Amino acid sequence: MKSYFTHLECTNCGNIYPSSKPIRICLSCSKVIYARYNLEQAKSEVSKSSFNNRLPNMWRYFELLPVLDPNNIVSLGEGFTPIHKAENLGANLGLDNLLIKDESFNPTDSFKARGMSAAVSKVKEFNIKELTVPSAGNAGGALAAYAAKAGLQSHIFMPQDAPEATQKEVAITNSTLNLVDGFINDAGMQSRELAAKKGMFDLSTLQEPYRAEGKKTMGYEIAEQLNWNLPDAIIYPTGGGTGIVGIWKAIKEMEQLGWISGNRPKMFCIQAEGCAPIVRAFNQKSRFAKAWENPKTIAAGMRVPSAIGDYLILDAVYESGGSAITVTDDEMIESVKKTLSLEGVFLCPEGGATVSASKKLLDLGLLNKKDSVLLLNTGSGFKYMEVI
Ligand SMILES: *Cc1c(COP(=O)(O)O)cnc(C)c1O
Ligand SMILES: [Zn+2]
Repeated sequence: MKSYFTHLECTNCGNIYPSSKPIRICLSCSKVIYARYNLEQAKSEVSKSSFNNRLPNMWRYFELLPVLDPNNIVSLGEGFTPIHKAENLGANLGLDNLLIKDESFNPTDSFKARGMSAAVSKVKEFNIKELTVPSAGNAGGALAAYAAKAGLQSHIFMPQDAPEATQKEVAITNSTLNLVDGFINDAGMQSRELAAKKGMFDLSTLQEPYRAEGKKTMGYEIAEQLNWNLPDAIIYPTGGGTGIVGIWKAIKEMEQLGWISGNRPKMFCIQAEGCAPIVRAFNQKSRFAKAWENPKTIAAGMRVPSAIGDYLILDAVYESGGSAITVTDDEMIESVKKTLSLEGVFLCPEGGATVSASKKLLDLGLLNKKDSVLLLNTGSGFKYMEVI
């Protein structure tokens, strides 16, 4: 297997950087950089049937991931999570083709595992030994696990109100857990300060190009698992936005590879009523989002008052003809109960938000009864006992 990773490119100013350097954000405009691949060559050398006999984890897409030597892969079996046909829940909501991609099957019980598997593998390839990350909860738990597997040291900065399960899963490892009096953005400042002072690599959301590459594998999987067809709509609970921009990037790459064709799905960005900077920007038809004051929601993964990738999230929503709406915490919990009762699937509150949102989008006429609609359940309800 060989990776077709060639270089890094700024999503804002287009500056190009070599793939051989651990660059985090654009050195000229400080915006998000993406990993780029030689897709022309991959198109002629890799066919989608190559994947038929590979192991069911995200590294089956090695050609489109940024690690050059397979020996550097740090894996706990992440990815290739099931897509449930949610017929009972769909009937209840009035949707004929409702699908749930269940990311709670990942190591550490959330899709943060995908991003951390990619980033920790790449950091290992660079021979970097120490990492930092700010986290609302799940990213910290995932980093602690992958750093342990790789034998690397990590320092995790979480707001004090991060879910107890995620605090504990970090606390019992060799990672250091720093509880921060403030929000995820305050944790981010402390994380980057330590990294800058001690020469460590900081893994803040979209402030390095590798986590998004891990999360983009959700897009490849959705296509492969649906027989190289995409649903009409994808509904995503948005915090920092790595997942939604990763899936959108994967769709564009698969088109260039000639693996998919036809209509792209509409991308729907869902946020909590108490923390909705992207939804507010969408309603103002803006490309950038102002920071949200005093963010408040039980869905820790969506408690992100400002995102460096705001314009990438909004571009995906605008380009796809999707939309951005909010749901309340009570609606999320109601949907968690309903989905476990009707489907036997225990969603996290963020996943519950996508169920509530699909009903609202149907009522608003932004979805049709016959549309195939895929919800992302980004993690397990078991990590949120204190709010359920
Ligand atoms: C991090 C997280 C999110 C938000 O993901 P982004 O890709 O950063 O937008 C949603 N749900 C859960 C459970 C999370 O841990
Ligand atoms: Zn730039």
